[in-house]
Amino acid sequence: MQIINPATDKLIKSIDEDTEKVVQTKYQLLREGQLKWKDTDIFDRIAAVKKFSELLRENVDSLAEILTAEMGKPLSQSRDEIKGACKKIKFFTLESERYLSGKNVNVDGNTHERIVYDPLGIIGNISAWNFPYLVGVGVFIPALIAGNAVLYKPSEHTTLTGLEIEKYLTLAGVPNDVFQTVVGGANAGRYLLDLPLDGYFFTGSNKTGRYIAQRVADKLVPVVLELGGVDPVYICDDVKSLKETAAAVSEGCFYNNGQSCCATERIYVHKDIYHDFVDLLADETNKLVVGDPLESKTNQGPLARKIQKGFLNDQIADARGKGGRVVTGGNPVGEVGAFFEPTIIADANHDMKVMKEETFGPVKAVMKVQDDEQAIALMNDSDFGLTASVFSSDHNRAKLILDRVDSGTSYINCLDRVSAYLPWSGRKGSGIGSTHSFHGIYAFCKPRGIHERMLN
Ligand code: NAD
Repeated sequence: MQIINPATDKLIKSIDEDTEKVVQTKYQLLREGQLKWKDTDIFDRIAAVKKFSELLRENVDSLAEILTAEMGKPLSQSRDEIKGACKKIKFFTLESERYLSGKNVNVDGNTHERIVYDPLGIIGNISAWNFPYLVGVGVFIPALIAGNAVLYKPSEHTTLTGLEIEKYLTLAGVPNDVFQTVVGGANAGRYLLDLPLDGYFFTGSNKTGRYIAQRVADKLVPVVLELGGVDPVYICDDVKSLKETAAAVSEGCFYNNGQSCCATERIYVHKDIYHDFVDLLADETNKLVVGDPLESKTNQGPLARKIQKGFLNDQIADARGKGGRVVTGGNPVGEVGAFFEPTIIADANHDMKVMKEETFGPVKAVMKVQDDEQAIALMNDSDFGLTASVFSSDHNRAKLILDRVDSGTSYINCLDRVSAYLPWSGRKGSGIGSTHSFHGIYAFCKPRGIHERMLN
């Protein structure tokens, strides 16, 4: 497998993909290790995870360089991602014990009733490349704290980062028969599906997620899918500052080059402010500096995958053909690397691919709406339901709108954010199950009811 720097097209490293046999050997190792790990005191498991977080912080600069080299996000965003992952880990180290400890819930005559939380066993964690630290720690950290072993397959586009994660977990005291990394792409992922794992936690595209859910259905084990979105924002006519709103929306659209599961993709704007807002959004977008991700002034590096340029060109051509007006951007940048201009298409409609398919890149579309009712209908007119956002100076108006939009996360006057304290879950084509919050702690356990008859 060749690991290519998407900013320079240069080879970083060649690395062998794991064969099926190697993956099976890693699995066998974990079977042994998990039995010891689940009996390790939870405070010792938490201590190892805390140490891992400390090591990430101590090594943030070198880890950020590796991440930027293999997937292209600006160095400052790589550093922020690693620090954000440490913040998320803190939630799990602070909160897990109280949720996972056994609970006496009822006494019925001389029978005491109690709930305990057993780990699932060995979980498969097949992950995406866009936020390998932030997305990864939402899965393997609560899994480890709950006493599971983890067979972790990072995306082939962030393999080196995945191997660094394994290295620092081991250095932090997580035994190597408790956490193992599988190197490779789709084939390596399929090997995990063939193993008798005790749960599958997948982050990636809708297409792969559906395939995985079907392939493992017969095993009757938990499957959590965190998939994509075509996330909407609606700008009401009463926003306090159009300029500040445009700046916030631009950030939600283009952070990480638009390669966020919860990136804003569909922008609906009330008719009374539509033209002014489009102009301001174009102005904000024009401020973004595209270029070398190692330069501190760069806001947007290359796309992680060069092949994505063709996909973006196709969405833009389709939108143009259906009445879309490109108000800024619209083109790839240069011959070397996978650079693409941040692009805003105005006068969008729901016949356009850009409003239906996940773009997962720096191409965004704006559509004029008549009123709140039309905005709600359009926001719901999607196969996805990850996040939805409303900007309004009237919080009640925003809440009432979002109560009627079918999405796992609602944002009022903000967007593109994830909190460890809140469940992260997609609806419709955006996934099933939850990570983060206490839901994302219990996701890695099997609750067991104990009926204890007391002897007189
Ligand atoms: P992808 O589906 O191409 O790949 C995801 C992972 O699945 C990779 O590790 C890949 O090697 C593996 N894989 C691919 N085919 C497989 C197969 N047949 N069997 C087993 N494993 C297989 O997705 P991607 O391009 O890595 O990630 C981008 C997608 O992830 C976007 O749709 C994005 O919205 C989504 N995403 C969602 C969230 C969320 O929390 N909801 C977070 C990040 C990314």
